[in-house]
Amino acid sequence: MNKIYDVIVIGMGVAGCNMAYNLKNRGQNVLLIDKSSVVATGGSRAAGAFVSPKIGKGSPLQTLTNEAFSFAVDFYKKNFSEYFNQTGVVRIPKDIEDNKKFDIYKDFNDTPYKHFSHNKLKDNGINSEYDGFLFENAGVCDSIGLCNALVKNIDKASLTVNNIIQKDNLWYVGKYMAKKVILTTGYEDNLLDIRYMGIHGTWGSRGDFESSLKIPISIHKSISISANLNGIIKIGATHNKAKDPCLLCKNPLDELMEKASYLIDTKKLHLTKIFCGMRSGSKDYFPLVGSVIDTKYMLKTYPKITKGAKEPLKKIDNLYILNGLGGRGFVFAPLMADILSNHIINNQEIDSRINPDRLFLKWCRKKNNIS
Ligand SMILES: Cc1cc2nc3c(=O)[nH]c(=O)nc-3n(C[C@H](O)[C@H](O)[C@H](O)COP(=O)(O)OP(=O)(O)OC[C@H]3O[C@@H](n4cnc5c(N)ncnc54)[C@H](O)[C@@H]3O)c2cc1C
Repeated sequence: MNKIYDVIVIGMGVAGCNMAYNLKNRGQNVLLIDKSSVVATGGSRAAGAFVSPKIGKGSPLQTLTNEAFSFAVDFYKKNFSEYFNQTGVVRIPKDIEDNKKFDIYKDFNDTPYKHFSHNKLKDNGINSEYDGFLFENAGVCDSIGLCNALVKNIDKASLTVNNIIQKDNLWYVGKYMAKKVILTTGYEDNLLDIRYMGIHGTWGSRGDFESSLKIPISIHKSISISANLNGIIKIGATHNKAKDPCLLCKNPLDELMEKASYLIDTKKLHLTKIFCGMRSGSKDYFPLVGSVIDTKYMLKTYPKITKGAKEPLKKIDNLYILNGLGGRGFVFAPLMADILSNHIINNQEIDSRINPDRLFLKWCRKKNNIS
């Protein structure tokens, strides 16, 4: 008879890898499944993997992002310092309007920062007419190295999962069995009816360049440019909402390179690798962490929920999700995995900001969504 795992995690991107690592450290028997036999093939492979705080006017999403940022920096420094380069990240206003906003943002910077004048930027090889914020704690991960290190000692299987079946308190995923399943499949959300979470993809690309250019700090100004790390500079961004990644794949770096050329001397860059990938976001941009609601049961049992009736939510037993990490998978994943593990193992309540339940009744009320 096949082994029964405590948990099967489906999807080996940064979400699945952090989830598996966290559960394994709590003594759980974990199997990681992905359609690829290689760790981190999805958005997590393409990611520049910058780990930097969010700036703004103190929105709830900024607060949550920066909680996750502090957690991630501590986590990477303590456990995976080899794959985290604390280069600092300087945030530069996009344009004159954005520059005015930076004046307001500084009052809401809940992460330590330094004012960084445009002259100082110039001294560091960065062209800008505006001053920026330097976040010295921020940095860049080696996305593939990190994901591999997270799951070094964890059982893995290569399988395209088309369906998951629950029978007699066990989940069956192909020939594998477990008491619990966690979905960490990124923008691909077709295993179950989870339309209420509004998962959508945003397409992006990244180029890695060999260069002797002296850029000691990483930069973010609508695109991200890494510090020169051992002769390599990474440039990446994700801005294109699209269902079909390949449509945009013709010249994936053109727009990036134009933007980069205003910031650094791009003539000194020699392209070595191109990565393209899709990141997944939720309807309200907050992560999706927790149990999964049985949509079919709810609609059949309580048809009035489409008219605004509030009914108790029925969850699918022992099924969880960690998704919707947006453009900050490497910032959010460690804290979100910790929260979900605490929920699964210690029955701790999920923070309402990230619990996908928040989206369900609203989605039901929008009758057009429901076929
Ligand atoms: C170009 C680019 C630049 C980015 N830059 C940054 C950055 O600087 N900083 C940052 O923090 N984030 C960045 N991101 C975002 C980050 O990459 C994502 O938030 C993160 O990768 C999401 O991880 P994930 O594990 O949820 O999804 P993914 O990495 O997409 O992993 C999902 C996995 O699930 C597997 N899968 C899906 N369906 C199935 C199935 N049915 N059966 C089996 N396996 C399945 C896929 O093969 C894949 O491996 C960037 C993204 C892109 C594309």
